[in-house]
Amino acid sequence: MKKLLVSLMITLPVLAMLFTISCNNIKKTQSSEAKVLAFDISGIDSTKQPCTDFDGFANGNWKKHNPIPSTEGAWGSFEVLDKENREVKIKGIINELLKQENPAKGSEAQLITGYYRSYLDTVTIAKRGITPIVPLTDKVLAAKNVSELIALAGELAQINISGPFGVYVNADDRNSSMNAIFMGQGGLSMHDRNYYENKDSAMIKIRAEFVKHVDKMFSMAGWNVSSPGQTILDFETKLALIQLKNFEMRDPVKIYNKIPFSELQKLAPAINWADYYKNYGLHTDTVIVQDKNYLKNLGLLIKATPLEVLKTYFRWQVLLTYSGLLPTQFNKESFHFFSTIMYGVKAQRPREERAIMSVNRRLGMPLGKLYVAKYFPESSKKKVVEMIENVRSVYRDRIDKLSWMSAPTKEKAKKKLAAFTWKIGYPDTWKDYSSIDIQNDKLVENSMNIALWEHHDMISKAGKPVDKKEWDMTPQTINAYNNPTNNEIVFPAAILQPPFFNPDADDAINYGAIIGVIGHEMTHGFDDQGAQYDGNGNLSNWWTPEDSKNFIALGKKLEDYFSSIEVTKGFKINGKLTLGENIADLGGLTLGYYALEKSLAGKKTPEKIDGFTYQQRFFLGWAQVWRENMTNESLINQVQTNEHSPARWRINATVPLMKEFSEAFGCKGTVADTLKIVIW
Ligand SMILES: [Zn+2]
Repeated sequence: MKKLLVSLMITLPVLAMLFTISCNNIKKTQSSEAKVLAFDISGIDSTKQPCTDFDGFANGNWKKHNPIPSTEGAWGSFEVLDKENREVKIKGIINELLKQENPAKGSEAQLITGYYRSYLDTVTIAKRGITPIVPLTDKVLAAKNVSELIALAGELAQINISGPFGVYVNADDRNSSMNAIFMGQGGLSMHDRNYYENKDSAMIKIRAEFVKHVDKMFSMAGWNVSSPGQTILDFETKLALIQLKNFEMRDPVKIYNKIPFSELQKLAPAINWADYYKNYGLHTDTVIVQDKNYLKNLGLLIKATPLEVLKTYFRWQVLLTYSGLLPTQFNKESFHFFSTIMYGVKAQRPREERAIMSVNRRLGMPLGKLYVAKYFPESSKKKVVEMIENVRSVYRDRIDKLSWMSAPTKEKAKKKLAAFTWKIGYPDTWKDYSSIDIQNDKLVENSMNIALWEHHDMISKAGKPVDKKEWDMTPQTINAYNNPTNNEIVFPAAILQPPFFNPDADDAINYGAIIGVIGHEMTHGFDDQGAQYDGNGNLSNWWTPEDSKNFIALGKKLEDYFSSIEVTKGFKINGKLTLGENIADLGGLTLGYYALEKSLAGKKTPEKIDGFTYQQRFFLGWAQVWRENMTNESLINQVQTNEHSPARWRINATVPLMKEFSEAFGCKGTVADTLKIVIW
């Protein structure tokens, strides 16, 4: 799985089960001309002690003056930039395209404006009601037995409608230059097992709201089923309880089980695998499954579940997937549960804003092509390449100096480091989307046609060599990722702007921000998961047993440290779930710091700016990237489901682990002294 820098909240039902992450949203709009200060000291709250609450010190005033807008679940650097990106840049591109009369069918302009117009045509949407999804739900109702229903699930999965398992094509972790077919768990409306089993009162309340939500949606659809909400919750709870926990899925060896296709039928005879795969459009002799036990238990669960319950479940999945595109009453109700109840978001964004987000999500690459032509200065690329090579050389020095690793493993680690590749800005080649049929008045069908295009694009790769040039993120995304099977780090155009990368800022701020981010992504190649992949992107153990033991022990210390942090009443960080991200944060920050020192070697010590030394400004640069206010609901969601520690703790738990931080701010008795966790 790809490692993201940050996972923004998922509000509406997720359209593509496996990889889609929707974005947060914002309040304050900066005009595109406004100069962003390198570090705005007015955000500092000097009544807070940097040594004990660095987030409070560096960001306290900013957080006080930037409350969470009613349309958001969180508000920080990512969300502010994301909103500006959409409301100024992306909106500007769409508005330009709207001026074209009769753009050619299949052109970027036609695809984007057609989809956008269909999203805003609320009159047609209201008039059509749920008719666009009725052919699908009718097929569900017509299934005469479980076999027919499972076969149909293969067809539904082509247009993003989830079932209890998902099939996808990706690089084979043990033969990374070839694509293989994977199968994993899925099909939970609330995405994560914790939402079904956690006994905290906040979670119990969410489950009760979920039942009400499903009942209401069925009633609005005019579907006459008795207690659909409780039926769905009961079935999904059974499903959740046989699934791997989120932190268990972080073990790449454990979830790699290549089996002959014929074994599926033996594992779960109640499931009609052949017809499912046929309808999904794939033929294969082998499949890599996440967990054989899950499939076995799923077979038993399906066998024990009445056909009527399974039909109710699949009808719900259809409605859930497309609820955001149905008449207002449906997306309002969907917003109420998936945003207000789950994330504490009070108000729905205006429709025009949602239309922009939806276009960006569904047609991100055609839009991205126009975005980079307008907003990505090629000069940025050269600067970022320099920064990456700078971090790589510092990483090499640090590996040489590690006291816990022996020489043979150091050689292997450096070999992997040297083999790292990067991508910056946007893809070299763009895919051809022109065959997608998009019409001005068929929103649901438009979305389905895009899903089908994506599905065919994905399955066409099965069994073929991996295209190493392919991108998994659009250029206008404010994020970055590490792809272990390509041994690569990827930085989309949109993250190369302030406060992450600011060509006008002093070096210390940029090293704490974008260089910390680059170091973070690079360290993912050496976190508890990444370290199990070699320089060619294959899962293969290159560690001596002794070094591996030391590495695991250091990770365990970090895990225990994070697990002790309570972020809100009754909820602690899950140190196991967040281990890879916490290693990457600590590594990224350390690499950024030493890259800055290296760049200053032999030069005059930089003058203080705004009363802060360059070392202090380095840490302020990091803190500025992660400043964020969050609703309590979003915070609970994050610690229950997300591999990233909440932003406040990416600052407050990470910086005190570095003795360089204690030295910069004159701190005494920090965890840097007691825990001594230096991994990279
Ligand atoms: Zn990360």
